[in-house]
Amino acid sequence: MIKQVRDNYAAPVIEKEIRDYWDSQDAYKKTKEYRKDGKRFYFVDGPPYTSGHVHMGTALNKTIKDILIRYWRMNGYNVRDQPGFDMHGLPIEVQMEKKISVPGRVNRDGKPDEVGIRNKKEIEEIVGIDTFVNSCRQHALSLRADMTQEFKDLGVWMDWDNPYQTITNEYIESAWWTMQRADEQGLLSKSGRVVSWCPRCETALAENELEYWDETDPSVMVKFPLVDEPSTSLLIWTTTPWTLPANLAVAAHPDMTYAKIVLTDDKNAHEAVICMESQAEYVMKKGGFTKFTVIKRYTGKELEGMRYIPPFQIDRKYLHGDRLFTVVTADYVEQDNTGLVHTAPGFGPDDFETGKRYGLDPFCPVGESGRYTEEFPEMEGRKVKTVNEDVIKLLDVKGILYNSEKVKHRYGHCWRCKTPIIYRNTVQWFLMVPKVKDKMLEEIDRVKWVPDWAGSTREKNWVEGARDWCISRQRYWGIPIPVWECKCGERKVVGQIAELKEGHGYMEGMDIHRPWIDSITFKCPKCGGTMSRTKDILDVWFDSGVAAWASLGYPANKKEFETWWPCRFIVEAHDQTRGWFYSQLGAGVMSFGRSPYDEVMMHAWVLDTKGQKMSKSLGNVVAPQEVASEFGADAMRLYSIRANAPWDDTCFQWDVKKNPPMKEGPKNAWKVLNTFWNVVKFASMYMEIDNFDPEKYTPAAMKQYLRYEDLWMFSRTEKMKASVHDGIESRELHKAARAIEEYIMEDLSKWYVKLIRDRSWTEDEDSQNDKLASYCTLYYAIMQTAMVMAPFTPHISEEIYQHMGGKMLTVHMEDWPLPNVSYIANGIEDNMKIIQELVEIIATERAKMGSKLRWPLKQISIIGRSGSKDAVKMFEDVLKQQGNVKSVEYLTPDKMPNDKEPCKFSDGQVIIDFDVTPEIEAEGYARELVRRIQQMRKDMKLNVEEFVDIQVKADATLLGYFESWKQFVAGEVRAKSIEFTDSPAGEEVKNWDVSGKDITIGISKL
Ligand SMILES: [Zn+2]
Ligand SMILES: [Zn+2]
Repeated sequence: MIKQVRDNYAAPVIEKEIRDYWDSQDAYKKTKEYRKDGKRFYFVDGPPYTSGHVHMGTALNKTIKDILIRYWRMNGYNVRDQPGFDMHGLPIEVQMEKKISVPGRVNRDGKPDEVGIRNKKEIEEIVGIDTFVNSCRQHALSLRADMTQEFKDLGVWMDWDNPYQTITNEYIESAWWTMQRADEQGLLSKSGRVVSWCPRCETALAENELEYWDETDPSVMVKFPLVDEPSTSLLIWTTTPWTLPANLAVAAHPDMTYAKIVLTDDKNAHEAVICMESQAEYVMKKGGFTKFTVIKRYTGKELEGMRYIPPFQIDRKYLHGDRLFTVVTADYVEQDNTGLVHTAPGFGPDDFETGKRYGLDPFCPVGESGRYTEEFPEMEGRKVKTVNEDVIKLLDVKGILYNSEKVKHRYGHCWRCKTPIIYRNTVQWFLMVPKVKDKMLEEIDRVKWVPDWAGSTREKNWVEGARDWCISRQRYWGIPIPVWECKCGERKVVGQIAELKEGHGYMEGMDIHRPWIDSITFKCPKCGGTMSRTKDILDVWFDSGVAAWASLGYPANKKEFETWWPCRFIVEAHDQTRGWFYSQLGAGVMSFGRSPYDEVMMHAWVLDTKGQKMSKSLGNVVAPQEVASEFGADAMRLYSIRANAPWDDTCFQWDVKKNPPMKEGPKNAWKVLNTFWNVVKFASMYMEIDNFDPEKYTPAAMKQYLRYEDLWMFSRTEKMKASVHDGIESRELHKAARAIEEYIMEDLSKWYVKLIRDRSWTEDEDSQNDKLASYCTLYYAIMQTAMVMAPFTPHISEEIYQHMGGKMLTVHMEDWPLPNVSYIANGIEDNMKIIQELVEIIATERAKMGSKLRWPLKQISIIGRSGSKDAVKMFEDVLKQQGNVKSVEYLTPDKMPNDKEPCKFSDGQVIIDFDVTPEIEAEGYARELVRRIQQMRKDMKLNVEEFVDIQVKADATLLGYFESWKQFVAGEVRAKSIEFTDSPAGEEVKNWDVSGKDITIGISKL
């Protein structure tokens, strides 16, 4: 049964009703169930971080996933569509630190000051790790629930009742198992290394956890006098004066030329320093000198071993190494500043490596919270970044400060709390990725990447530069590193929860997060001592890296693994080259000797209108909900897909701060859907009135009644379906969406529906099959469109499918409509193209001549090649009707009249006769009258099938015209009678001015 759709496409209201329908019918579950015997398709959702809200990028991401999953399902696949959530990590810890109170804490004045945790000591000693971790869990769960609702509101169908969460024991177990595999292959190592460190969060950070922006820091040049020649100094440069107490060496480039120079100023003050020769003039200027003389030259290599007096005297019990306070060489020294680099192996990754080569133990007099320790008594307890000025003063007092200024430079910050990071020497756990790099590169070649360069260029470049992955974090809310150590050096890596049972303190079903896991100990098999767990947790990026098997519950749940593994497809944004694509690849190669996925699709970012990243601080964030609440989730989805190729960034066309607000992107997408809605409104209205039965009047049954324009419509429909199909298969989703859009706007709405208006109108008994043929064609076009649109715009497709009498519970259960090649008719399409071109030329010429569209033209004459002759032969009626032309003649070139100016078209020339005869004038006015009456019927809100009586007043000429067209007018406006009178009456009476003539019309409903 076909039911008329409502008048207006009020997307947000309709969409809510559709989601309620899905819920009440359990449509998602039933659709999945319906495909359960299909070929299995294992898709893995890249888990979004539980931030609590879906932003534009996540919305695009889930839209792409939803489109593909629905598409695969329509193609018969049994798709595993479990959503995931990344729920551990610093962002949640930092939020909880702000919320939790520290009982008993007072400020300097002794007043209570309890809100917010300030450091790790407060978590460990006052709040308790257990309370803290439990709060983090509660918070993460509630954020997950909020996000789930937002995804559902976008119409995303995934297994929301059963997401994988990185915080469950089962998931953690899979991560442990992976760690155990890495350890077995000698890929897990613990070592002292200088890492980026957040002094506020008191933990190591990975390179991809740093955010860079400009900071102003000191820029100082300092003299280190030579031991054997104290009147000459090595001149070094640094932007971190606070690291000078940890100076152990000065680095020079081995091959560069250095010079001992004497600097003098106007007052004959002088100074002897050693610097890179090319920098001498720069150094001279910075020191306020006016002249320099080179006394001696050295290569960097020749400087090696030269001894100097360090800037600060540190207790020698803390310092180890034979080559302390000497010049060393390093390739990374650049030709800038003084060309001599202050080297503090405890505070810089490069310095650390250099120190290692020269046997200098990294000296790091700074604790976890970024404060000096007793090893540097002058500043003990002070925060390092705050002492720069005091250090500079001390250098000045010592007479070794050469120059001091400020410099603005890019500096790393903690991604979570935005504190500037420092580099510190600490002991960390590493996965030795370079050891499996070759296999990873091989796997990149095997995997299918979309677009191709996502793998062959981006991912490969990243993996080629892979370094050891620092996976330890000194925090609480994360997967505990499953390593137990003994004082004797023995180490145990636990891979499964069952292994914990051999330990001390295990309780069945216990939560294996910190702090509970920390209470489990093992007896050392080597020395009999106690093995206890390393206190660190895993880098949160490792969590998601194991998703492809952890979400299957492997290794505990082997059956699920055997059913689905490996993953067929993943799709994420381009920043995952160094994130999830990489972590999965590394963890997969370590665990299974292969990449866990076979195809990667990379999508881009959604930026603001100007192409800037959306961010809270810039105030340019557009929330998906904001857009959906105005134009609907479908328009939002369609726009974000059709705007660009998935892998090209989109500048989201939406700016409410503009005056007037700019909402073009989603609005235009809405217009496309609204146009389709209007087509369906037209179709469903007539088909409901006529009780049209699409199962009886199928294309096969109606074959003999189909006109050429119907065959044209069938052909266009199949072409559109083919484009959508190809677009999805090649992942060029934008092409698929645009094909639908063009078809709706151009073929269906702007053309076909206009061609069949009169046919739908007719009540003539002889024309019933002709009418049914047009219904059959339009019905087919609408249903096929609803089906191919279903993955893209799931709500409107459902609404239309249901109103048009779709047979399944939901359109999403339908089989994907493959193009029917037998319907494709290129010849008919070519002919129609010529007719469309002619109609367009006529319209343009009419506009030039000021001739109104409703006024018929006397004649057009076509002089063309065979193409247009065939076209006119096939579509003469269409041309007459759409061009509003009384007659069409076809001339051979020799018959071309000389007195008229022809217009060119692709197949020849056309001459339009604009002569207005009384017959033409009569028809023109009759059509004007029809339009006015129809407008009044609309204003009276009459249904199309309701009959009316009409009374008309006009001048004698017009009445004469109307008399001769009376039957036509009555048929068009569904009038039982038309009466010409001097005082028209009716429920509605209106005066009209039609091209300078007064017409009064009265209408009564019957
Ligand atoms: Zn931080
Ligand atoms: Zn031991």
